[in-house]
Amino acid sequence: MSAPAPATSKGDARPIAFVSAQALRERMHEAVNDPHLRTSFRGAMDFLMAKRAAQFPDESELASLRTLSEAIRQYSLSKLPDLLEQLEANLTRNGVQVHWAADAGEANAIMLGIARRHAAKSIVKGKSMVSEEIEFNHAMQAAGIEALESDMGEYIVQLAGEKPSHIIMPAIHKTKEQIARLFADKVPGVDYTDNVDALIQIGRQVLREKFEQADIGLSGVNFAVAETGTLCLVENEGNGRMCTTVPRVHMAITGIEKVVEKLEHVAPLFSILTRSATGQAISTYFNMISGPRKPDEKDGPEEVHLILLDNGRSQAYADEQLRKTLQCIRCGACMNHCPVYTRIGGHAYGTTYPGPIGKIVSPHMMGLEQTHLLPTVSTLCGACGEVCPVRIPIPELLVRLRGEAQSAPHANPAMAGQGAGYSALASFAWRAWARIYASPGNYRLFSWLASRLRALTPSRQSGWTAARTPLTPAPRRLRDMVRDRR
Ligand code: SF4
Repeated sequence: MSAPAPATSKGDARPIAFVSAQALRERMHEAVNDPHLRTSFRGAMDFLMAKRAAQFPDESELASLRTLSEAIRQYSLSKLPDLLEQLEANLTRNGVQVHWAADAGEANAIMLGIARRHAAKSIVKGKSMVSEEIEFNHAMQAAGIEALESDMGEYIVQLAGEKPSHIIMPAIHKTKEQIARLFADKVPGVDYTDNVDALIQIGRQVLREKFEQADIGLSGVNFAVAETGTLCLVENEGNGRMCTTVPRVHMAITGIEKVVEKLEHVAPLFSILTRSATGQAISTYFNMISGPRKPDEKDGPEEVHLILLDNGRSQAYADEQLRKTLQCIRCGACMNHCPVYTRIGGHAYGTTYPGPIGKIVSPHMMGLEQTHLLPTVSTLCGACGEVCPVRIPIPELLVRLRGEAQSAPHANPAMAGQGAGYSALASFAWRAWARIYASPGNYRLFSWLASRLRALTPSRQSGWTAARTPLTPAPRRLRDMVRDRR
C-alpha cells in the first residue's frame, strides 16, 4: 500500500542505529551478567505480570475481548488504504494539516519545516515511540532546536543520554538511587534525594516551566478514528494533554497502521490496552483531539499537524502473514512476559522497539540485512503470543523472519534485506541433507559412514560448541542395535 505523495524529498536519516552481530552478543552477555539490571527487570516484570493478571480474573471475558480486539485490528487493516484517505479528509475538514512521510528522513524534514516556519526554538514532547523510531530529538538538535521529553520516564532517559528500554516504561532499567544521582548531577540546584515523591515533584517543576516556554508540542497517537477525524491519546501523567493544548502548535506523529474506522472501535482497544500494558482498568487521561482551537475556545493550539509515517509498514502490509505485525497496539505485554527480554533488558537489542514486538517490526523498518539476528533472540516459548491482546502470532512470525533471512537472496523478496543470513555453504549442506534424507538407501549409507568416521568429527563446531559439547555420531546406528536385540 502506498500513501499519497510525500510532502518533501526523501531523507537519508537512519531511523534506528542497530548494533552488529558481535556487538549484539556482547551486549546480551553484558546484560545477563549484570545482577542489578537483572534484578530490576525481574522485579518490574513480575509486578507488571501480576497487575495484568489481576485485571483479567475472568478467562472467558479476556478471551472475548481479545477476539473482539483482534477482529477490530484486522478489519481496520483490511480497509487501511480507504480508512487513511477518510481520516485525511475528515481531519482536513476539522482544520488539521495532514502530511505523509515515507521514512524517518521525510518525517523529520516535514516537522523541521513546520518548526522553522514558526521560528521555533523549543519543542516539548509527550511520549511517542514513533518519534524515537525516527530519531526526532537528534534531528531537531542538529538543527539547533531543543526537543525536551515531558513524560517522566522519557525525561529521565533523556537526562541520562540513553534510549528507552521499554516501550511503555522507558526508564524501567533504572533504580531510584540511580535516578536520584542523575537529578542531583544534571538538574541545577537539586540536592540528592531518593524520595520518589520528591523526585517526581522536581521533574514536574522543571517541565512545567518548559511547557510554558515551548513553541511547539509533539505527541504520538494511540488510535486515529477515520469517521470523525479524531486523534486519541492514552496517557497517565497529563503531560500529553499539556503538550497538545499549551503550545501554539501541536504536531502529532503516528504510524499509518493506527487508524480505526469508527469511534466505537476505540473503546474495546482502549480497555484491553491499559489492562495489558500497566494493569490499569483505565488510564488517568484519555485525550481526543479533533482540530485546532476554535474562536470561542479558551485553550488549545492554533495549528495542528498530523504526520502519517510509513517507514517499512507498507512492506509488512503487502504480505498477508507479515501484515499481522501491524495489528499491534503497543501495549508492551509481550515484552513483560518474554523470558529473554526479562533477562537482558531493552538496551541489549539495540533497536527502538525491543523484545518480541521489536523483533517483528524492526526488520520492516531497517531491513533484514541489519536485523537478521533479531528473530533468533527468542526461545519460541510462545509466551508473547499467549498474552498479546490482539493475538499477533509472534512466534510464527519469528519463524517466518528466520526463514526470510536464510532464503536465497532475491528469490522472491517479501522484505528488504531478504537472504541477509544466507550462506552458500549452509545452503549446499541442507540441499545435500534433503537428498540423503529423501532416500532410505542414501540414508542407510550415510549413517553407516558417519558411525565409522566418527573419530574425524571436529571438536569445535562453529557457534554450537561455544556452550555445548560437540555433536558426534553414535558409535553404532540405532538400526544395528535394534537388529542385534532381535
Ligand atoms: S505485539 Fe501484542 S503484546 Fe506486544 S506490544 Fe504489540 S499488542 Fe502488545
